[in-house]
Amino acid sequence: MTFDLLVRGGRLVDPATGTDGPRDIAITGDRIAAIDSDIPSDRARRVIDAGGAIVTPGLIDMHSHVYWGGTPLGVDPDLIAAQSGTTTFVDAGSAGAGNFLGFRRHVIERSKVRIIAYLNISFGGIFGFSNKVMVGECGDLALLDPREAVACGRDHADMIVGVKVRSGRIAGGNSGIAPVDIAVEAADRLHLPVMAHIDEPPPGRLEVLSRMRQGDVLTHCCRPFPNSALLGNGHIRGDMFAARERGVLFDLGHGAGSFDFSVAQKMIAEGFVPDMISSDVHLFNIHGPAFDLLVCMSKMMALGLSLGDALRGATVGPAKAIGRPELGTLAVGGPADVAVLREKAGDCRFRDSTGALMQATRILVSDGIVAGGTWQANEAKTCDARDLSSGPSPHANHAAALAAHFGRPCCGGA
Ligand SMILES: [Zn+2]
Repeated sequence: MTFDLLVRGGRLVDPATGTDGPRDIAITGDRIAAIDSDIPSDRARRVIDAGGAIVTPGLIDMHSHVYWGGTPLGVDPDLIAAQSGTTTFVDAGSAGAGNFLGFRRHVIERSKVRIIAYLNISFGGIFGFSNKVMVGECGDLALLDPREAVACGRDHADMIVGVKVRSGRIAGGNSGIAPVDIAVEAADRLHLPVMAHIDEPPPGRLEVLSRMRQGDVLTHCCRPFPNSALLGNGHIRGDMFAARERGVLFDLGHGAGSFDFSVAQKMIAEGFVPDMISSDVHLFNIHGPAFDLLVCMSKMMALGLSLGDALRGATVGPAKAIGRPELGTLAVGGPADVAVLREKAGDCRFRDSTGALMQATRILVSDGIVAGGTWQANEAKTCDARDLSSGPSPHANHAAALAAHFGRPCCGGA
């Protein structure tokens, strides 16, 4: 039997199965055809040398914004997939019922990588987001109609896996908890989970968590004060443990303003590891501080997380949360989505959303991905550049941010 592609000589780390050891991965079409400790090179038409590399299920970025051109914060997933080891982008509510079809036709169906979506409970999705314009889509409750969301969720049931709501003073103005209640009602009707964003209160973390059900996702779980996961005494809030006990899932969602090193470090130290590690990558944090999923994973590792747990949060963790467990593991007959990563040593500088700097000695970088059976090399080899300490919003306006994204060399020109 001849295979189309062989990823050979790597160390397979697959947290879903507990595999950690030398394996070759053979691919035919868009499926995994064989996984074995030694598959000869002459059995494949093309061989990817993964010697010294970590081979893992293609990463899933649980929180991203990839409706480029259709919403002002969207980035092009095909431009960042190979460099970030990401084969599945879960878009966290960029589109609402009023513009989801455009997302599907113009972006999702044309993309070389898989895009799965949470539908924004607000009709127009995230429509007013730039350095100069910030109009929260939940600030006007006239935009939030659960009937529209339910109809759209049914029309696009093949790619909508949940309902997204951005509550908080920034995204929701004076709406308080109402957007969360409307999102939960729509999600209940669709038999899907909710992903809830929190920013500055109101509503407070406890109020949002009280609405969340088993399988619902709280994103921005390591955000800074106010609405932090930590009490003033530095310990994790009891409501976090109680919610996890009920089956609520916790997602990192780094973003521009939602990641605090000190919160994440304490959570890791106290054993409250986020279920999902995600970037919340968008046009205004892709040049810092979030950059992409691998940078976010590298930050978590610098704060004490193991490689296995970092990979777990970007493979099996999100795969289960979106109800697509087959995307979170490598198995014969399963989808041929693979990431080939390396852990590189060197001095790195990272920054969080509060401006805090951290020195680290290693970073995860990508050789490339197999997406749907096709190899995409990471052409942006400079991504292992060490200075990843730039802050958010380096661009004067939306047009400048767009130009930088579509013309940028890599990681803000590092
Ligand atoms: Zn987001």
